[in-house]
Amino acid sequence: MNHPYDLKNIEPIKALEDIYNYINKNNFKINKLVVVTKTHSHHLLQLLYDYGHRDFGENRYQEARDKFPLVKIKPESPIIGHHIGPLQSGSARNIPDIFDWVHGVGSWHALKKLANASLKKYQLTQKKIYYLIQLNLTRETTKLGGMYLEEFEEAINKNPELIVENEGLVWKGFMTMGPSNGDLYITRKIFQQLRNIRDKYLPEGELSMGMSGDWKIALEEGSTILRIGSAITGNRKY
Ligand SMILES: *Cc1c(COP(=O)(O)O)cnc(C)c1O
Repeated sequence: MNHPYDLKNIEPIKALEDIYNYINKNNFKINKLVVVTKTHSHHLLQLLYDYGHRDFGENRYQEARDKFPLVKIKPESPIIGHHIGPLQSGSARNIPDIFDWVHGVGSWHALKKLANASLKKYQLTQKKIYYLIQLNLTRETTKLGGMYLEEFEEAINKNPELIVENEGLVWKGFMTMGPSNGDLYITRKIFQQLRNIRDKYLPEGELSMGMSGDWKIALEEGSTILRIGSAITGNRKY
């Protein structure tokens, strides 16, 4: 199951470079490109780390906890871990130990747990956690997570304290995904909607949108954080 990735395996690096070249050539500006490495071994992270990449996305706490420490890093330049799956109340308290960014906040209850854990972590290490509220704009009932827009708007208008921040936890923006059928017309509409929501409620905020099948559309609609897996890593090993 574990591919021994080494520097002869240049395909992920070539794919990453191609994406950066596309971004630069077309004058898009992004703040982050997260390479999603779920199901892949630490050898792949090592390859990308040695190349200079730092932002990695994982959707399972345990998998990331076991994998990240296997990558040999320069202590002054650590991995920046992105938790990209739905944030669960059960694992929220462990998140600050290994992640820096949380993209999938879709429940106020789980966010409260994350806030408590982040504050504790901050008091010990000064580490800050950045989170994004995930909106389910397709209204599909899938396990992909995210809250409906009305739940978010009700909170921000009536109970803004639900959108917790503290010394160790900062709300940085929004995340969403296109429809599961991959319809690119609807995907674009969803991305436009998320940008409008961001402009209204957190104008300086991040827009985490764009995956392997729709990252070019996401760039056109103003994405600031791409989360790209298989287009860089090859197929996942489920
Ligand atoms: C797996 C995953 C990605 C990456 O998906 P690809 O289609 O392989 O690029 C991005 N975001 C989330 C939330 C994911 O679960």
